[in-house]
Amino acid sequence: MPKAVIFLGDGMADEPLPELGGKTPLEYADTPAMDGIAAAGMSGSFLTLPPGLPTSSDVANMSVLGYYPEKNYPGRGPIEAVSRGIRLGPDDVAWRCNLVTVDEQGILRDYSARHIDNTVSAQLMNLLQEKLGSDKVSFYPGVSYRNLMVLHGREFSDRVGYFKPDSSQDMPVTELPWTAEVPGAAHTVEVLNQLFRDAREVLAHTDIASEATDIWPWSPGRTPKLLSFEERYEGRRGAIISAVDVIRGIGRASGMTVAEVPGATGFLDTNYAGKVAAALEMLKNHDLVYIHVEAVDECSHMGKLDLKLQAIQAFDQQIVAPVMTALKGENVNFAVLPDHPVPIRLRKHTTTPVPVAVCGPSFPADGVTFFGENSAKNGRLGARSGDELVRLLLGLQKL
Ligand SMILES: [Zn+2]
Repeated sequence: MPKAVIFLGDGMADEPLPELGGKTPLEYADTPAMDGIAAAGMSGSFLTLPPGLPTSSDVANMSVLGYYPEKNYPGRGPIEAVSRGIRLGPDDVAWRCNLVTVDEQGILRDYSARHIDNTVSAQLMNLLQEKLGSDKVSFYPGVSYRNLMVLHGREFSDRVGYFKPDSSQDMPVTELPWTAEVPGAAHTVEVLNQLFRDAREVLAHTDIASEATDIWPWSPGRTPKLLSFEERYEGRRGAIISAVDVIRGIGRASGMTVAEVPGATGFLDTNYAGKVAAALEMLKNHDLVYIHVEAVDECSHMGKLDLKLQAIQAFDQQIVAPVMTALKGENVNFAVLPDHPVPIRLRKHTTTPVPVAVCGPSFPADGVTFFGENSAKNGRLGARSGDELVRLLLGLQKL
């Protein structure tokens, strides 16, 4: 039975851009390793963001892994809590709690408090815990702006509508309210509004220098119950490599091995060599290794085309190429794909199915010679969804 490696470039897909001569960033960037996968194997498309769910990376990555988020999505808060080893009680509701920048006119300017430094962010979250923490609310530091808040108690609901901060930049905060989706959630909304005001006071009156003016709780949920990777895939074992808590949390919640890679930052300066080494090590005693790289997504949300191109090329040269070289001739199938598009023009996720290329012993060549949004449409892999990709890669399903 073949083993498998999935290369996941977060937010890599885009739209044709006039400044790139009508090509997309993925088509324009110099990516010989990804093109090599397409040339050696097959291309197609994959539906990662099913209708009716948040258009977020956790949903999309759950889809790529074949976990059917439309049935199983617990919310980002609980996934990240699992990732950080935070135990959620039966009455706890966990929230992703961004530190964000709101300007004096009340406009949400930055979903990440300008990619706030880890240490500073942890100091601020600890300060919020000290000033506002109680038997009803706890604050936990995460990585950079990606922090957590947990509400404790039966009176709290996870049925609260919210705006994703990275999709709501340059909008007035007053137009981005939390809303009760059921009458029982009204109290939770009141508490959120109070915490928002209180946190603003705390952040305004600290000596800790940062661009963080506010907290932004979103994607609430209760403790996740996911079928394990092994149960899903006939006893095969999976491992995940990512700097990002939410992706690591999906791994933890589904019993995959989550690799520890020192210096994995979720940005352009991540430890690429460390990720490659971890992937090769993990593949020795696992059947599928999932290598997630966040940097492309971050550059896309920043709206910086030059950085996006740079991040795509770094992904190709420093992740895809060395892994492919090291595993040449082995009984391993490979797939490369984004989790969702983040068009530079929009700076937010869209639900268009993503291009995917696969190669290895299970996949004959289909004549497509490079990897890109348009070329993938002509591939023989066709339109895929659900757990088909992982099953094909592991040899559990025939083409
Ligand atoms: Zn993503």
